[in-house]
Amino acid sequence: MPGGSDFSLANLPYGVFRRSRQPPKVGVAIGEQVLDLAEVARAGLFDDVVDGGETLFRADRLNPFMARGRRTWDAVRTRLTELLDATDHRLRDIDGLAERALVPATQVELQLPFEVADYVDFYASIEHATNLGRMFRPGGEPLLPNWRHLPVGYHGRAGTVVVSGTPIVRPNGQRKLGDTEAPTFCPSRMLDFEAEVGFVVGSGSRLGSTVATDDVAEHVFGLVLVNDWSARDIQAWEYQPLGPFLGKSFATSVSPWVVALAALEPFRVPSPVQDPPVLEYLRTTGDWGLALDLEVRLTSAAMGRRGSRPVVLSRPPFAGLYWTIPQMLAHATINGASLRTGDLFASGTVSGTAPDTLGSLIELADRGRVPLALPDGSTRTFLEDGDTVEISAACAAPGFPRVGFGAVSGTVLPTHRA
Ligand code: CA
Repeated sequence: MPGGSDFSLANLPYGVFRRSRQPPKVGVAIGEQVLDLAEVARAGLFDDVVDGGETLFRADRLNPFMARGRRTWDAVRTRLTELLDATDHRLRDIDGLAERALVPATQVELQLPFEVADYVDFYASIEHATNLGRMFRPGGEPLLPNWRHLPVGYHGRAGTVVVSGTPIVRPNGQRKLGDTEAPTFCPSRMLDFEAEVGFVVGSGSRLGSTVATDDVAEHVFGLVLVNDWSARDIQAWEYQPLGPFLGKSFATSVSPWVVALAALEPFRVPSPVQDPPVLEYLRTTGDWGLALDLEVRLTSAAMGRRGSRPVVLSRPPFAGLYWTIPQMLAHATINGASLRTGDLFASGTVSGTAPDTLGSLIELADRGRVPLALPDGSTRTFLEDGDTVEISAACAAPGFPRVGFGAVSGTVLPTHRA
């Protein structure tokens, strides 16, 4: 990945942070620091751009700010750019404000940035859907007949979305190994990660209305990284006919910084050609692919003890995703389902075509057939207790500062006894 900070002036992602013994507040990441927006509001610097700024930012979640809508998001972003611009650092014009409002990132604890309203997970990568189709339904057509006509998804569990750094306890569940064997109950032995990108709804919509692909920027506040932890053995036994359930719902991790949609403008690229052509309500104008490259890294417990660097497992390219964000949002509302502030929509596993661009371990190790070798001498087909999975991502385009997402990470802990 190219160098430079994830959090330049071109980025300005939002999060919720705490300093020791202080209540949580809304902040913006800038370089190696966090800007305390409540302090900025208290100094009156948001008075002309947002009503009640201090209350809005002295909050333990982004939801109240996100609910204000596009005009407020844009006005605050413009003001933040003015305040932090290195050549005209207006924050320094007020005595002591820069010192009060800029906190070293090492001194804060980052929380779940927004209260998750509803959570939907799509299946938007044709490479991932094809690979999984081959494994779960060997001998059949890998893609089901609906796949190229609509973005397939399912409703997940909002209450188990956790912030990066939260430990992931290995789930127990039912599995069934062969056609003739009886189901058994045990800790999952096929625990996996899924490298995904999520988008977060700021402005909701009315029940019975629909959101057109052209209106996506009015509703989507920003993007986060998602790790959709998956227990493949539980999933394989339970998923037909109603879709994923307990094999997914035990935990979903998100990155602590929400990158504003506005920060991603320079990185929009054409998305893949869709064949057959989609129905009218899924048609889009403009480029909705995103030049965003993910990186998945793993550190085993033994590597951690030795201080070894994480091993890079994969670099999935988000730009190749078959279904785009406006299509996913338009599809999710075409039946009149309303959007709520805090709704999280994840892309589904991002996989490319090359072997080192696959976004899950089941694909990377070909469902256990090709174990991955780790620097500590062990191998992996699925995750072991003590493994830490970290996913980072950054947008790059010639002539623009890179816009990074930070990372989402989680360590697998041994199962609780049922
Ligand atoms: Ca998923």
